[in-house]
Amino acid sequence: MIPTAVPNLSGNEAKYLQECITSTFVSTAGPFVSRFEAALSEVSGAGHAAALSSGTSALHLALTASGVGADDLVIVPALTFIASANAISHARAQPWLFDVTVDSWTLDLALCAQHLEQETQMRNGNCYHCESGRRVAALMPVLIMGNSVDISAFRLLADRYNLKLIIDSAAAIGATIGSQPVGQFGADALCFSFNGNKTVTCGGGGAIVSENKLIVERAAHLASTARTGRDYDHDEVGYNLRITNLEAAVGLAQMEQLPNFLSAKHKIAKTYADFADRYEILGSFPQARSIDSTHWFSGFWYRGGDATCALRFRTHCQDAGIDLRSFWKPLHLQRPYAECLRTAMPITDDLWQRIFAMPCSTHLSNHDLGYVLEVATGFWDQQA
Ligand SMILES: *Cc1c(COP(=O)(O)O)cnc(C)c1O
Repeated sequence: MIPTAVPNLSGNEAKYLQECITSTFVSTAGPFVSRFEAALSEVSGAGHAAALSSGTSALHLALTASGVGADDLVIVPALTFIASANAISHARAQPWLFDVTVDSWTLDLALCAQHLEQETQMRNGNCYHCESGRRVAALMPVLIMGNSVDISAFRLLADRYNLKLIIDSAAAIGATIGSQPVGQFGADALCFSFNGNKTVTCGGGGAIVSENKLIVERAAHLASTARTGRDYDHDEVGYNLRITNLEAAVGLAQMEQLPNFLSAKHKIAKTYADFADRYEILGSFPQARSIDSTHWFSGFWYRGGDATCALRFRTHCQDAGIDLRSFWKPLHLQRPYAECLRTAMPITDDLWQRIFAMPCSTHLSNHDLGYVLEVATGFWDQQA
C-alpha cells in the first residue's frame, strides 16, 4: 500500500535518540526539549514556545492559559479534525461550529462577523451569546492542509468582541503569510502537532507558541502539574502533558530538515494541482500553488454532480494499492458534537466527501508518485 503520509526519519533522529540513551535523559528533563522549543520559536516567528505531549494538549492549554473556561463558547470551523473540538471540551468550554468558505476551506470570517453581530451582546466588556446566555470567549481558525489564513483580519474581529484568537496550526509548521512567519500576526497562541502523519513528527507531540511570554509560561506550568519549585508544591490543579527528551530529540532532527520537507511537499502539491487542471470535474486544494501554504496534505477534489463518483475513486485507488481514505468527517456529524450550537453548513456538507488527500510523504518517490497519477488518470479519463 502507498500510504497517505508517513514519517521521513532520514536525518539525525537515530543519532539524537542514541544521545538520550547514553546520557539517560529519556524523560521530560533534557537538552533536546529546550533546543526543540528554540527551533519552534524561531520558525514560527512567535518568540516563545513550549513543547507538549500532543497538538490536542497544546490547544487545550492554550485555551485554558488564555482564560477560556467552563461553559464558554469557542468559534471553530466544522471542517476540521475532531481534536480541535476535543481541546475545547477539555478546557470545559463548548464549540460554536461555523461553516467554511469554498475558497479557503477554513473558518468564514464574514460569517463569523455576521453571527457575532446578530446573535451576541456585549456586557461588562465581554461578549455573550444572547440565546444560550454563554460567554463567547475565543475564535479558533484552523490552518487546514497547512494553509495560512488572514490572521490580522481575525485579530481585528476578535478585538471588536474581546475574544482570544487561538490558531489551530496543528498541521501548518513552517506556514507564512507573505513570507512572514504566522506567529507574528497578533494571535494569542498558535498550536502545532507532531503526530506521526504531520510534516514534522516527534512520534507524538505538540507545541504552543506565542508572542506573549505569559501565555506560554502559564501553559508550561499547567502541563507540569502546576509545580512551583523543586519541592512538591503545586498552586492549582495541573496536568501531565509535557513532551519527553526522546520525543524532542526526534523533533529537533526533523526541524533540521524542515526546508527540505516543505519543498518536497510543495512539489507534490503542485503535481496534484497540475493534474486537477486537466479535468473540468476536478479542483485543486486551496492555495495549491502558493508558497504561503505548507501543503501538509495535498491532492484534489471532485466538483462534479455524480454522488457515487468520490466513493468509486476511493475504491479504485484502494484496489490499486493506494491508501486513499475519506477525509475528516465534519464536527456537526460526529456524535459528541451533534448537538452543538452551529451555523448552517452548506459548504462543509457539500465539500467533505469530495476531498481526496493523496499520498504526500516527503520521501514519496517519483516512481510511486508517477504510479499514483497513472491510477488516477485511469479513473478520471473514464468519467469525463
Ligand atoms: C493533527 C491535528 C490535531 C491534533 O494533534 P494531535 O497531536 O494528534 O493531538 C488538531 N487539529 C488539526 C487540524 C490536526 O490536523
